[in-house]
Amino acid sequence: MTEQIDSAKVDPPRTIAVVGGGQAAGWVLKTLRKEGFDGRLVMVADEVHAPYERPPLSKAVLSGDATIDSLSVVKSDELEALNVECWQPDLAVHIDRGRHLLRTAQGRELHFDRLIVATGGAARRLQGAQGATNNLAYLRTIDDAVALSARLRDIKRLLVIGGGWIGLEVAATARKLGVDVTVVEGAARLCARTVPPVVSTFLADLHQKHGVQLRIGAGLCSLEDHPDDPRRVLAKLEGGECIDADFAVAGIGLSPHTALAEAAGLQVRDGIVVDEYGATEDPTIFACGDVANHMNAWVGRRVRLESWANAQNQAIATAKASIGILAPYAEIPWFWSDQYDVNLQILGDVPVDSEPIVRGNLDAKRATLFFLRDDMVRGVVAINAARDLKLARKWMNQGRRVDRKVLMDATVPLA
Ligand code: FAD
Ligand code: NAP
Repeated sequence: MTEQIDSAKVDPPRTIAVVGGGQAAGWVLKTLRKEGFDGRLVMVADEVHAPYERPPLSKAVLSGDATIDSLSVVKSDELEALNVECWQPDLAVHIDRGRHLLRTAQGRELHFDRLIVATGGAARRLQGAQGATNNLAYLRTIDDAVALSARLRDIKRLLVIGGGWIGLEVAATARKLGVDVTVVEGAARLCARTVPPVVSTFLADLHQKHGVQLRIGAGLCSLEDHPDDPRRVLAKLEGGECIDADFAVAGIGLSPHTALAEAAGLQVRDGIVVDEYGATEDPTIFACGDVANHMNAWVGRRVRLESWANAQNQAIATAKASIGILAPYAEIPWFWSDQYDVNLQILGDVPVDSEPIVRGNLDAKRATLFFLRDDMVRGVVAINAARDLKLARKWMNQGRRVDRKVLMDATVPLA
């Protein structure tokens, strides 16, 4: 349901500042203009590129199959057509809430009526002896991906630290390029934060079948230049094993960029705390995308999602709310990963500690895993089963009850 804010109660904004230049920022800019905002619109972004999508960075960009242009959310000439002032590269460093002022590292100041924070996050860094080498890369930006893509063409053995989504997608792309890969994961299973054990096992089998060496539940003691050759790396694991590689990539999670909001006294708890409209406790300041810990009406609780779909749709809802068009954000969380010949999609609220109903055959790399609550589908993991996921999404939106036996029996069509 969409409602209009009572225009007598809020001053319509004349200047809107958007901090961040990623996917969420791009959708905020497009939405504001589409919805008729014709005031001053300023984007402060520390990357030089126009807003772009990151999913191809670990896939087609890394393998050399995509050009940078194909990633754009809004191209530079579109930004011009939308009449957006782009302050970039520049970093927003201070919000003066009392005076509605935004300050940047280059010393510029902007008076805003609304401020939308879409600062995303940074790749978490290995600390101390765990990251004591220059032969180590992280992957968050186009520039990171282009540099890593070139590097992968130069090396024979890659060490990946972290068996999460970045680690596994980089491993799959590196194998495609003929590089030997070892993945070191500290937790007891792969992607333990986002999927249940059965999916972790599926992913481990998949990678092993493609020749990836896995070290799971393996604490990293140190990662240093190789003593015999400073162009290589040597990793020491807790059990005493040493791994020698030509280069290392770490994908060990994301740190949301919350410092700006926190310093402004806004509530921060695993992200900037916002409501179902993307609003902080300050009615002139909003947040969206990876950095926002938001109330999701479908999930029924607060979540901070790190996904393409959320960076687009929660940003759209937030942009609208900032100009008074209120529709509570209630999209079912969705994200996907492509590894080798597997397209894996996750929809809804997938508990990481429960056993799903399995339809299809995981060994044949085609299965749909359903997670039910009160006979209603609350979460789905679809492995090369996009059509099942589409149908499940419909049921989930309708809150429809389902029959477990039918779900399990792949001979009975789901429709
Ligand atoms: P970001 O993309 O992080 O953008 C934030 C921008 O703001 C950055 O450019 C940052 O430098 C800038 N910034 C930060 N602070 C400031 C400041 N103070 N001043 C100015 N600028 C600032 N999701 C999926 O669903 N499926 C996938 O397959 C998938 N693959 C991915 C692969 C990779 C390699 C990565 C990195 C992410 C992937 N994701 C995927 C996640 C998805 O890309 C993110 O959820 C999305 O990019 C979040 O967008 P955002 O705009 O919120 O943040
Ligand atoms: P992630 O999915 O959180 O995975 C990080 C993994 O590294 C976790 O399993 C973590 O284990 C492990 N780890 C942490 N410290 C470690 C250490 N010192 N040694 C070994 N393992 C360690 O994060 P990510 O893969 O880095 O991804 C970062 C961001 O990119 C996320 O926003 C992600 O959603 C996004 N991304 C998404 C996709 C996709 O959706 N397909 C693809 C690529 C990237 P613990 O949990 O025990 O800390």
